[in-house]
Amino acid sequence: MKNLWDWLLIMLSKNILENKVAVVTGASRGIGLAIAQALCCSGAKVASVSRSECKAENGYICDVSNFDQVKYVCNQIISDFGKIDILVNNAGITKDNLLLSMKEEEFDSVVDINLKGAFNFTKHLARQLIKSGNGRIINMTSVIGVNGNVGQSNYAASKAGLIGFTKSMARELASRNVTCNAIAPGFIKSRMTDTMPETIKEHFLANIPLKRIGTVDEVAMLAVFLASDFASYITGEVIKVDGGMFI
Ligand code: NAP
Repeated sequence: MKNLWDWLLIMLSKNILENKVAVVTGASRGIGLAIAQALCCSGAKVASVSRSECKAENGYICDVSNFDQVKYVCNQIISDFGKIDILVNNAGITKDNLLLSMKEEEFDSVVDINLKGAFNFTKHLARQLIKSGNGRIINMTSVIGVNGNVGQSNYAASKAGLIGFTKSMARELASRNVTCNAIAPGFIKSRMTDTMPETIKEHFLANIPLKRIGTVDEVAMLAVFLASDFASYITGEVIKVDGGMFI
């Protein structure tokens, strides 16, 4: 257990994640890239996973929805880094459509990547996180998973499922000192939101009390906090970063 002086020393140090090894999925751009960079700046060594080419120094390629590919990549990361302390399940996609027009593939692929992808990585890295003695799992859900949205039944179902998964992991792994929390961003500037129709963007903006779109760095800062010792007594939480959109 740390005392006040230990905490103050950590606070004064820039390297609050020194000696930690983190895995971040969906780290080729957007929120995942910002999280990988922020963890790195805080002293962690980071393995960045994405489906296509990852320009990061420690980049790994796999489809998070493919159980066997994930197993292979996790074993590779464990052998390269020797241990894992932090897992950020961030990879995600949208395939928006109204239910009456939604194809089976649009539902399946969104659930497979957003929800099963998190299961795949957690399953293959859980033993390492337990071994760490201070493991951290951070799952990227969405305010849509809490509130639902027209045209996003597949996405909302995947993100709501991720919240149930987060709370179950928090309960299952608490006795091994592994915490598991979810971040629920609102409307954040990235390629995912750049492709949204202008009318939808305007609708979102009109409902944000802080009157602006969020930045990927504002999400990344919460991830660094949750990954650090400062968050050692927080588990099973879903924390919004949404400018007050769903107060
Ligand atoms: P983004 O810019 O589209 O980035 C998505 C990332 O996920 C990319 O690195 C992509 O890699 C990766 N990815 C997608 N499918 C994958 C797969 N099958 N296997 C491995 N990697 C895969 O999106 P973002 O806005 O940064 O979103 C990141 C996360 O935040 C997502 O889970 C999203 O649902 C969540 N979120 C975003 C917002 C927002 O407003 N932006 C709001 C709430 C929640 P490739 O480039 O290689 O495909």
